Amino acid sequence: MLFDPRPKSSRDELFDREEELKALDRFAERGDPLAIVLGIRRIGKTSLLKSFLSEWAGVYVDARGVRTRADLFRAIGEGLSASRRVRMMLRGVRGVRVGPYGVELKWRGPDSLSLAGLLHELGRGGGQVVVVFDEVQSLRPPISAEVREAIAYAYDNVPAVSVILSGSEVGLLRDFVGVGNPDSPLYGRYSLELEVPRFSPGLSREFLREGFREVGVDVPEALIEEAVTVFDGIVGWLVYFGRSYLDGLRDLDRVVKAAVETALKELTHLRPRERLVLKAVASGARSWSEVRDYVESVEGVTIPKASLTRVIRKLERLSIIKDYAFLDPIYERASRRLGGGDRA
Ligand code: ADP
Ligand code: MG
Repeated sequence: MLFDPRPKSSRDELFDREEELKALDRFAERGDPLAIVLGIRRIGKTSLLKSFLSEWAGVYVDARGVRTRADLFRAIGEGLSASRRVRMMLRGVRGVRVGPYGVELKWRGPDSLSLAGLLHELGRGGGQVVVVFDEVQSLRPPISAEVREAIAYAYDNVPAVSVILSGSEVGLLRDFVGVGNPDSPLYGRYSLELEVPRFSPGLSREFLREGFREVGVDVPEALIEEAVTVFDGIVGWLVYFGRSYLDGLRDLDRVVKAAVETALKELTHLRPRERLVLKAVASGARSWSEVRDYVESVEGVTIPKASLTRVIRKLERLSIIKDYAFLDPIYERASRRLGGGDRA
């Protein structure tokens, strides 16, 4: 069902994305070592990747919430357990137990397995294996370094393993890979870069119509048009709208309001200064000096020059703004409502 809020995991469920699937299939068929899949939150990266993996010997690792090595290996263990083909490949490997309920990994002590060692073993199973690390920019040292080094090892030594890195915070993801950082073990290595685009208005319209058709619900065209405009091709919000409508929330303004609440919660982890800059951009500041003027005259605070520049860069690396504009219109609405207070 298109309006299912969980990420899609099969190609039948996935709407459009044919070009992206083709590019990823080609990548895996060639046995290329590394791809990077970028795109803002809710644009459909996880759905694309899971649906893609369904036709490969694939391992999906969700890096969100991974803090410790135990977390990391648990996430990997879950990824390994989900694929029958991968489970078969790991039979008899030291440090791995393939049991009736899934794969157990021994990651510490005698007979344990490192991540690089695991990728090495996957590469000996016969056939190409694709390993996806989703939201990988959220990893912190020292775990991030271990993952990066294991990927670099596989890049150089394990031709039967193709790795895909994905994340919503595009700048941070690039930092993770270390594209421009000579100290990164992945520095200078070629990778395929794939950006998941927003749906065009035409596709958004088709998506909503098809979603409602699937469940036999008639929706006024005018409402669909409005939703297409408001959510700007971000499929996760289109699903949010569809779901809300099916659940009886028929008023678009109220759906938007609820979406904005969700976005607001996601912005609360930002620092007070970062929120202030977002508020400035949401209020129409379109350049560095306009942001400064807003912050100084409206909010009555001064921010040192270098500090302001750093805050703007950080918000860009988080993929919230680009060139003084929001990438997600719901985040823009949410930012207008951010408090300028409690600045520390
Ligand atoms: P991301 O990983 O980029 O944050 P998700 O894959 O989690 O995005 O998608 C967000 C929402 O949109 C989910 O409800 C998912 O089911 C839906 N979705 C994403 N892409 C598609 C698609 N191509 N077809 C149908 N639904 C999709
Ligand atoms: Mg995702």
